[in-house]
Parts: sequence; C-alpha cells; structure tokens
Amino acid sequence: MQLASRIRQIPPSATLALNAKANQLKAQGVDIVNFGVGEPDFDTPENIREAGIRAIQDGFTRYTPVGGTPELKNAIVNRFQADYRLSYKPSEILVSCGGKHGLYNLFQVLFEKGDEVIIPAPFWVSYVPMVMLADATPVVVPTQEANGFKLTAAELKARLTPRTKAIVINSPSNPTGGVYTQDELAALGEVVLQAGLYVISDDIYDKILFDGAKFVNMAMLSPELKARTFILNGVSKAYAMTGWRIGYLAGPEAGIKAADTLQSQSTSNPTSISQKAAVEALNGPQDSVAAMLAEFAWRRDDIYKRVLDIPGATTIKPGGAFYIFPNFSAYYDRLKVASGQSQSGALAAYLLEEAQVAAVPGGEFGEDKCLRFSYATSRERIATGLSRIKAALEKLGK
Ligand SMILES: *Cc1c(COP(=O)(O)O)cnc(C)c1O
Repeated sequence: MQLASRIRQIPPSATLALNAKANQLKAQGVDIVNFGVGEPDFDTPENIREAGIRAIQDGFTRYTPVGGTPELKNAIVNRFQADYRLSYKPSEILVSCGGKHGLYNLFQVLFEKGDEVIIPAPFWVSYVPMVMLADATPVVVPTQEANGFKLTAAELKARLTPRTKAIVINSPSNPTGGVYTQDELAALGEVVLQAGLYVISDDIYDKILFDGAKFVNMAMLSPELKARTFILNGVSKAYAMTGWRIGYLAGPEAGIKAADTLQSQSTSNPTSISQKAAVEALNGPQDSVAAMLAEFAWRRDDIYKRVLDIPGATTIKPGGAFYIFPNFSAYYDRLKVASGQSQSGALAAYLLEEAQVAAVPGGEFGEDKCLRFSYATSRERIATGLSRIKAALEKLGK
C-alpha cells in the first residue's frame, strides 16, 4: 500500500514494542523481570474509580465541551494555584485524551515547516516523531552525564538559529530521573527570553519528586517566562490513571484556543467518564499520591544501590519519576552487535536472553551508552532482576 510520507518516516513507539516482546515471552512461561513498563504498578485509587462508576450510573455519558468540562478545568486551575501559585484562567487550559494527545495537538498548532525545536537528549521517545509530524525539524542536543543529563545554557545557546522556535524541558525526566534546579532553569530561561523561544514544560512527573525537593518549572520563574511556556500535565502518572486517558495543557490563550480547534476536528472531547474521575483525582484526598511517592522513593534508593554495585556501571541518582538510566557502556566491547543493531539494543537483547530481564535500550532515548529501567515493579522483582543482571554482566566480562 502506498502510505503517506508523513507516516513512513515515523517509527512505532519503541517502549511499547519491547513491552510486547517481554509479555510474549512471559506468555510462553518464561519468568521475565520487566523493567520496561512506563506506568505506575499501582491501581487507580478507589475514590477515583468510584467517581468513574458514579459518572456512568448518573448518565454522564454524552459529549462534553471539546476542551474539557468547566468542572474539570476549574479543578485544574485550582491545583495550579494551590500547588504552585500559578494563576490560569479556564480559557488557558485544554483537556485532551492523555498528555500525549495534548502535546500532539500543541505541536500541530505551534510548529510548521522550517521551525526548529530543541530537544535535549536523553529525551522521551515521542518528542522527536511529534515534531516531525508537524513538519518541523527536531534539533536533538546531547547533554552530559556529568551534568546529570541536564541541558546547560551554553549548550542551548550553541544550537540556536533564527529558526529556533521552542525548547522541550521534561523535569523530572523520563528516562533519566534527572530534575532541574531553579538556578538551572533560570539560566536556560534567560536564553529563552533573549531568543524569544517558547517553552514546552512536560511536568507529567511533578508529583513524583524525592528527598523533599520542591517542584519548579519555567512558568513559575517570572511572568515573562510564564507568557512563553506551555505546561503539559495529566493524571496518568501521579494518580496511576494511564488507561483513563486524561492529560491537560496550560498556557497562553491563543495557543490553547488553536489546540482546542484542532481537537474539535479530530477527537472532540476526552471521555466524559474519565473527566469525572479526574475531577475526583485533583479535588479529592491526596494521600494516595504520598503513599505512592514513599514506595517509589524506597525503590529508588534500593535500585540505585544495586546498580552502583555492578562493576563498571555508572548512573545519576534519580531525583524523580520512576526510572533509572544506568550507563553500562563499559561492557560494550565484549558484546556481539548484529548489523542494524545499536550497542544499547544489543545489550538489552543480551539481558533479555541471558538474564530474562527486560529494559529499554538507551538509543531509543538518544543516549546509546545507557539502558532505561522502570522501577514501577515490586521490591522483590527489583532485587531479583538486578542480581540477574549483575551475574549476566559478570559472565560477559570473562
Ligand atoms: C507518560 C508520559 C507522558 C504522558 O502520558 P499520557 O499517558 O499520555 O498522559 C508525557 N510525557 C512523559 C515524559 C511521559 O513519560
């Protein structure tokens, strides 16, 4: 079939592909430890599930306003105010069918042919294809492990051209767990204002932040930066609601309105039932978030220790999210790499084969020295998985 060139340049989501492979082995009875999953392993909290059931029973099952119900938009506005002292009007909020969908809509209305979008690597897998789907040019800028895989103002400056339109910041980061400090963001913010860029602030992991750190994003730094920043957030990660598909954008009204128009001609409103559940997530008791955070923090400490216990491995200490991104490149010269395969791909394949452990090759995130491990899995599986990896790498070392 002669498909449109638009889709021929786009690879399918690599993280979902690996997950499928691991699940297939599992179905064959192989005991796989799966570190590939990009979603919390908790159930959606009961009060939120009940709100969804109530929505169905109350007949709240029709179209809603395209960009979300006033009730949900108000809940979002209130959370921004209460959590971060950020003031938004409901007209500056768009609710979409998951955070990914919100981002897709935004990129479609903000970018076009000739525009360059700065994407610091390691990056979340969808940014590059989404920029390409808007006919714009992704400008991938590598960052240094020694800087915690965070972009510096100098690195940003060096890649600016007259066509640079925006920069994507994801903190806490998927895949590294890295978290920008206020000073680091302020330094980037100066460049942003000088160059007149827009900021896409992917804050989806804002509630999964360790060591008592306070969340900060670009919009919180000054009114000037807020006027140039689009925030992406949603309920998927903080409330273990990945399947409900509710995400939202906050930002300058003209951009939000345009994304709303696009949404009106594609998906229309996000699911009415899920919107009711999201209202409960945002307005209801927040203790489930705290409980999840405490568990993730325990696992973060544990997996960090176990990674550093592997000879030759290095890693940054994740400050948030539920990923760790170890550098295992010390083992690469002993690996057999098939043609067309990346080194991180070869290591991931070796670990799946030799240790029955699934992790995502760092090459998929723009950093081939590393593998991404999600620790959204039980304490016991983390211990089992990491000791299997250690043994498999030792074997490789001989
Ligand atoms: C999970 C995730 C999202 C959005 O997820 P949705 O399920 O579409 O809401 C956005 N950015 C990053 C970095 C993510 O990991």
